[in-house]
Amino acid sequence: CGIVGVLGSHEAAPILVEALKRLEYRGYDSAGIATVNDGVLDRRRAVGKLVNLSDLLVHEPLAGKSGIGHTRWATHGAPSVGNAHPHKAGPVAVVHNGIIENFRDLRAELAESGIGFETETDTETVALLAHHYMNQGLSARDAAEKTIARLEGAFALCFLFDGEEDLLYAARKGSPLAIGHGDGEMFVGSDAIALAPMTDKITYLEEGDRAIITRKGAEVFDAAGRRANRAIKTIQVDT
Ligand code: GLU
Repeated sequence: CGIVGVLGSHEAAPILVEALKRLEYRGYDSAGIATVNDGVLDRRRAVGKLVNLSDLLVHEPLAGKSGIGHTRWATHGAPSVGNAHPHKAGPVAVVHNGIIENFRDLRAELAESGIGFETETDTETVALLAHHYMNQGLSARDAAEKTIARLEGAFALCFLFDGEEDLLYAARKGSPLAIGHGDGEMFVGSDAIALAPMTDKITYLEEGDRAIITRKGAEVFDAAGRRANRAIKTIQVDT
């Protein structure tokens, strides 16, 4: 399973699929990507090998230079198109590796506010919660921040928002996540190998870190919410 993200200067879809291919060795049962194009968030998902997603994208292309992608190893909910990531709620799209242990409690809480569910996944709860907080007036990044604070379990997460072509929000707890620095472009990957064709300049997020990423760079905050200085390393990987 794997996570990728891009704020690029080229079309995002081929970059996302290529990066996901480099994570295939981890195993997965389905895959998907989401992009923002002219401010509009859209997604494509497919069960099985990445070639199925690539074929779908030939018939139903996804334009846009900002996006996120995912290969799923199902833990909650069968492998299906509906349960595949990215999950979406209102303007929020999210990809997730790991398990949200308290998702049933969070679901119950959301259900009390009259919010319904479309999937059996723990991950959908994350998108719904962030949407819920945005409905209460929070900005995208504040809603993501507040959502992360509610989550128990293990996760690497990356958020993309409708109307926001220059924002990714990433968080790491118990599952690795790396940020790649390009030339006016930024990347996210569950490991640096995924990003090797795009950049060798990598920031590894530490346990509990969150990152607000724009094309100008990444602002990282530690688990206590303090601004954290994480090194940009030049790594050697085979492309
Ligand atoms: N728990 C999530 C799901 O079942 C994420 C699984 C993964 O790490 O790919 O959808």
